[in-house]
Amino acid sequence: MKRLLLLIMILFTCGCTNNAYVYSNIDDNIFCNVKVNNSNREIINLLKQEKYFICNNLEKYLDYSILNTEDISTIVKEVNVGLYRDYYKDVVESDLSKDYLVLVNKYYYLKDNYVPNDLENISTDCSVGINSYLRHEARLEFEKLCQDAKKDDINIYNLSAYRSYEKQNKIYNNKVKTKDVALIDSVSARPGHSEHQTGLTVDINLLSKQFDKTNEYYWMINNSYKYGFILRYPMDKEKLTGYDYEPWHYRYVGRDVALAIHSEDITFDEYYAYYIDNN
Ligand SMILES: [Zn+2]
Repeated sequence: MKRLLLLIMILFTCGCTNNAYVYSNIDDNIFCNVKVNNSNREIINLLKQEKYFICNNLEKYLDYSILNTEDISTIVKEVNVGLYRDYYKDVVESDLSKDYLVLVNKYYYLKDNYVPNDLENISTDCSVGINSYLRHEARLEFEKLCQDAKKDDINIYNLSAYRSYEKQNKIYNNKVKTKDVALIDSVSARPGHSEHQTGLTVDINLLSKQFDKTNEYYWMINNSYKYGFILRYPMDKEKLTGYDYEPWHYRYVGRDVALAIHSEDITFDEYYAYYIDNN
């Protein structure tokens, strides 16, 4: 009885009942700045239950769902990474203040004069070839990964890490001379849009899909996140990343973020949209 009296007093003095009534009225009509009506209420209710639902994207989810027949979960993922517009359309300069979490993809680019200022040469124990530079922290972690792998009789080494804008420009343009642009875009980045320009990316061991048949591939899948690296272009996520499956291409994002991406089984593009850009 005492508790009941206390509750009545709290409700009366703070006016909570009134506020609750007002808020529920607002929710009924406007949700995330979108007018809720009989034709969109059902889909909005489904959308807002999605784990990666972003309030600012609500209007885009609704527009996208009219043109695309995918399930709600896929609509949320695809809109979050930017697929409501074509690749390379309305591109945005990458936010360098995000440091090791900078996003570079088909919507985000680095300027032609961007060169990371802390590039360091990967130890020859862990690298072959000439493109052997990574940013300081990524270099340290990659070498740790490589040395620990050796203890398990696994040999992981860099084939190609940092690449300048000019280098990517040559690579891309040479490929485009001989093949169809759409085909090249699925396997090679346009200059300014290559993650290799961040100095946070490393192609390892074998530039072939056959790499995923090796013990080295499995070791990387099970261990790379412990050193802050993620498989950047996984199989079955081609639409979200914009790239063909590349079992050899790893990206440094730091240990905490790599663990989250590994546990949630999402791409870096999805992680960035929800956990970084959304905050
Ligand atoms: Zn690569």
